[in-house]
This record gives sequence, C-alpha cells and structure tokens, in this order.
Amino acid sequence: MNEISNHMPTSELQRLDAAHHLHPFTAHGPLSEKGVRVITGAEGTWLRDSEGRRILDGMAGLWCVNIGYGRAELAEAAYRQMKELPYYNTFFQTTHVPAIALATRIAELAPGDLNHVFFASSGSEANDTNLRLVRHYWARKGQPERQVIIARKNAYHGSSMGSASLGGMAAMHAQGGLPIPGIHHIDQPDWWGEGGEMTPEEFGRARARQLEEAIREIGPDKVGAFIAEPVQGAGGVIIPPESYWPEIMRIVQEYGILLIADEVICGFGRTGEWFGAQSYGITPDIMTIAKGLSSGYQPIGGSIVSDEIAATIAGDEFFHGYTYSGHPVACAVALENLRLLDEEGIVTRVRESTAPYLAEKWATLADHPLVGEAATRGLLGTMALTPDKARRAKFAADPGTVGLICREHCFAVDLVMRHVGDRMVISPPLVITEAEIDELVTRARRALDATLESVESQGLM
Ligand code: PMP
Repeated sequence: MNEISNHMPTSELQRLDAAHHLHPFTAHGPLSEKGVRVITGAEGTWLRDSEGRRILDGMAGLWCVNIGYGRAELAEAAYRQMKELPYYNTFFQTTHVPAIALATRIAELAPGDLNHVFFASSGSEANDTNLRLVRHYWARKGQPERQVIIARKNAYHGSSMGSASLGGMAAMHAQGGLPIPGIHHIDQPDWWGEGGEMTPEEFGRARARQLEEAIREIGPDKVGAFIAEPVQGAGGVIIPPESYWPEIMRIVQEYGILLIADEVICGFGRTGEWFGAQSYGITPDIMTIAKGLSSGYQPIGGSIVSDEIAATIAGDEFFHGYTYSGHPVACAVALENLRLLDEEGIVTRVRESTAPYLAEKWATLADHPLVGEAATRGLLGTMALTPDKARRAKFAADPGTVGLICREHCFAVDLVMRHVGDRMVISPPLVITEAEIDELVTRARRALDATLESVESQGLM
C-alpha cells in the first residue's frame, strides 16, 4: 500500500476514512456520500485542509485549543519529556516530576482551597471520577445514602456511561439505557429558549430554585452533589441570567451538598478568568478540567478537589484510577501551556481587551433578520436563530434544521462555527486578534445572509 500522507488526493483519503474510521457523533452513511473534510495543518487561529483552503477556526478545535495552533514550545516540551521519561504510572506509591509540577501549578491557579488534583485523560473520565469520588466521600463521612447527584437537562459532561448520565442530552440517553441510577436532572437556565414571560432575572432565580425543590423532593439526606457548567457549552453556550449562580450558591450551602463546577470548557481563560467559577463568584468543592489545560495538544483532564474532600478520603484506598492518570508527557505539555498562557498575559488580554471587543462586534449581528439573541461571555459566543425575534419564536421545522443550514454556509465561507439546534456558537482560540474577530463576524454575517436566502427559498420561515 502507498504511504498514507497529506500528499494523497483528498478523494483517496476520504475513501480510506469512510472504509475504516468510525467518527464520534456521526451518521456515517450520509458522511461518506458527502466526503469528510481532511484537515492537514494549522497555525494560530487558522486551519488548512487537503484542498488548500484556509479556514478560520471559530471553535478552537472542540473548544480546546486556547493557546492557538502551532506552538513549537509545546512540541518541544513533549519531545524532552518523551526522551527523559515517556511513561510511568502514578499507582503503587509512585510519582514523577511532571505530575508533581502540574498538580502544584493547578493548585496555585485554582480558587479557594481547591488544592488537590486527580488526573484523567479527558473530561469524561474526570467526571466519572467525580461521580465515584462524591459517593465515596459521603460514605467516608458516614452518610452513604447521599448517592444522588443532581445535574441539568441539556448539560454536557462527557460521553462515557457515567459522564453521559450526568449530562442531560436526551438523544444520548436514548441510546444505551442511560442515565444510570442516582442521577436527577433539573431544567437549564436558558432564558431565550424557555423564559416565557419572565424577566431574565426572575427566570434565573426560578430555575435555580428547581435545585432546592429537587433536594426537598429527593430528601436532603440523599443528595450528594450538584454538577453544572458555569456557562453550558455544548448545550448551545447558554449564558445564565446574573441571578442564577448566587441563588445556586445559597442553596448548595444551605443544604450542605457538594458543588461540582464542570470547567472543561470554561477553564483556563475562556471566560477571561482562569476559571468560569471566578467569573461568576462560584465556590465549588470540585472542578472538572480538561481541554484548555493542555490547549488540546495532549489528552489530559482531571478533578480538582478541596482540602476537606482530600482529607476526608485520605484514610483508605479509593479504588479508582486510569493507566494514564498523570501521564508524564501530557503533564509536561500542560505545564508548558499554562506557562505560556500566564507569561504571555493571554488570560488577562481576554478579560481586558479581546472579550470586550468580541462582545461589541458579535452584538452587531443582532440586527440580522434571523438573529434573536446574540450574546457572549468571555470568548464564548451564541446566537439564537429565529423566524420572529419579537416573540423569541422557534422554527416550525425540526430543531436544528436551520442551524445545520447555517453551519453549511459557514463552511462555504471557510469559517468553523458550530450549530447546536438552531443556535450558532463560537469559542475561538484565546489568541484570536481583533482583525480576526472582524473577519469572523464578517464571515458569520455572509453565512447568515446565505442562510436567510435558503430558509426563505425552502419555505422554512
Ligand atoms: N464536560 C464539558 C463541559 C465538556 O464540554 C466536555 C466535552 N465537550 C466534557 C465534559 C467531556 O470531555 P471529553 O470530551 O474530553 O471527554
């Protein structure tokens, strides 16, 4: 067989991919008819594909390439570590310097007394850790009946059995008999989609109070934790009303349940602080991290836990861990990524200039006939597409029909913008420049114009 490389014709790469590669979250029949896109390289905020197109990556890969593509320092960190110690485990009373250094650095960056890190290779694995850890913690506290974890509909916490159960994606639950027992879902704080006649502030409080109602219904002595993303990402970048998190904090404190902030997307600068919890004044007991921890250059995630949790479980063995918990190469790369994010002032720049600039430019899209809400938080952006913005109406077609049309038009103008139902979302690399934000918004408007034409010609308005 010829060597498979970037030099092969796209059609041949597509043929081999269709023959042998099963993709995440993909219907393979339609994909192989259409032909998969082949990405061959990337630099900064830009991707290259096998057809030689330069594509503006409004999604930082999958919300993860915070530092931008092409940083040689991270490649060199991996190379140095692979030569020195490519692998060793952290089981059996053993450790190594990259894991020590990264855990120490994360503890410095994390708010409050979140000083202890349990490593995993992904956000899904980290949330599985959290599930078991919370139950183990309460058992150690002499309250083993505190099994239930409350989560939210339309949340995304991963794709494994445990983390997909914590997530509130109905389509995922429908495949494979999820959720597992002991998970309860409350509604999300999506004012645009579900707020009805309430003001955003009233609605935020009402949705938070569902947590209190659920705790009372289940029994306060049976609830172990509440898990939520500071801003829901994969659910459509649902930015909660300002009243939401203070009310959640009141409730978790009053009932003494643990709060898990899933920072897989919000962490490492996305909201203009190191963690989304800091943006919203949230004080979690556990934070889930992944993605931006290494800017996606290596698969690594983890759970950061409080002094109190670490002390409570210290007495006996927690029968849990992964071969790659604290993988030395992943740790070395993550550490270098955190050094660059810090020393180059990237998080500060997001807070002080890039996020305000994006907010201003993104808001200009709200005058488009198809756009209802156009909102940002840090470098997360969301646009609700609607046939009638005054009524915050939904399209008559199946949810996602118009969003998908818009995403295809984004591809046509060489912009990666994702659709979630009929919302369009962005999460660009944190290093995006103001000129690139202008370009992103210009391309988004062209895609919206083309979407409006398609929607009208197909009678979907
Ligand atoms: N939590 C959140 C908030 C996420 O957005 C994701 C991934 N999109 C995960 C968990 C799961 O992470 P992974 O895909 O690395 O398992």
